[in-house]
Amino acid sequence: KYYNMVEDMKGKIRVFCRIRPLTRAEQAKKGHITVACLDDYSVILETPRGPREFQFDKIFNTECTQEEVFIESSGLIQCAIDGFNVCIFAYGHTGSGKTFTMVGDRDRRNPGLIPRTFTRIFEIIQDNESKFEFKVSAYMLELYNDRLQDLFVSPAEAFNKRIEIKRDRKGLVFAQGAETKDAASAGELFALFEQGSANRHIAATKMNVESSRSHLIIGIMIESRNLTNGSVSFGKLSLVDLAGSERAAKTGAKDDQLKEANSINKSLSALGDVISALSMEQPHVPYRNNKLTQLMQDSLGGNAKTLMILNISPSDCNLDETLTSLIYATRVK
Ligand code: ADP
Ligand code: MG
Repeated sequence: KYYNMVEDMKGKIRVFCRIRPLTRAEQAKKGHITVACLDDYSVILETPRGPREFQFDKIFNTECTQEEVFIESSGLIQCAIDGFNVCIFAYGHTGSGKTFTMVGDRDRRNPGLIPRTFTRIFEIIQDNESKFEFKVSAYMLELYNDRLQDLFVSPAEAFNKRIEIKRDRKGLVFAQGAETKDAASAGELFALFEQGSANRHIAATKMNVESSRSHLIIGIMIESRNLTNGSVSFGKLSLVDLAGSERAAKTGAKDDQLKEANSINKSLSALGDVISALSMEQPHVPYRNNKLTQLMQDSLGGNAKTLMILNISPSDCNLDETLTSLIYATRVK
């Protein structure tokens, strides 16, 4: 019943596209809808120069539920438990639905991929506890203006810490200087996430920065030891809510805002370059060009399984950003 398209993907990058419904404000403004699904795999964007079609591995239209998005993505959780490195990230402009998809809505009536993933990890663990011993740990970071912040410590403490991206002998990325916390249940993992989110909010308020202007990266490490033969496998699941992809020009940015916008543009284009190098099987993959791609290095390419969820708005107000996003996402395929 759980038809699952990501289950059999091998080292490939999958791209899903999710179209959010019109917001109340857009409905009030009588916003026009400029996006239509042709079928499960193609969307049409109505532009002033005519319609343009874009192909994806799967499209979630405005009526799709959080549950449906989770089901299509959830095979990757099993992959991480089986010892693969997995990365799920949401891309799109501010207001396109990335946080809704990854985290859920504010009143928690519609939990997104992150809390559902926490629950599923421990469901799978419980089902396998007679044969394996598991150890789950996590880090949670924010990348803002090329600076990494540890979200598992207070903002004051985080401000004075220097975090460096390193790789261990097996090529796994770790953030030296950042806390890695163990979690023995989905509840514990969720409590850690809540604490990290609160720290992120405090830091953002203090610096007068919107959280949509930084990248959020959660790394969940899953170690499993086979109780019969003692063999150990190690998988990692990275969940990423990227900063808004809108360009500086539109927001009329200056000074600090411009620096911020440039930093985001640089990291998102570095990510695009890495993914397109991987999908074209180029020998050189430019991971080292940016902290974002360095952090995601062990979860992009090689044996890793990557899922990009492109979030778009159906509204004509966002037409330019939507077109830019669709081009970005289809370029990485
Ligand atoms: P982003 O993180 O990309 O800036 P948000 O996730 O905050 O965007 O979404 C913007 C607004 O649209 C929020 O009010 C959110 O609750 C709403 N929204 C986004 N996606 C959906 C969806 N699929 N269904 C219902 N509401 C959505
Ligand atoms: Mg957001």
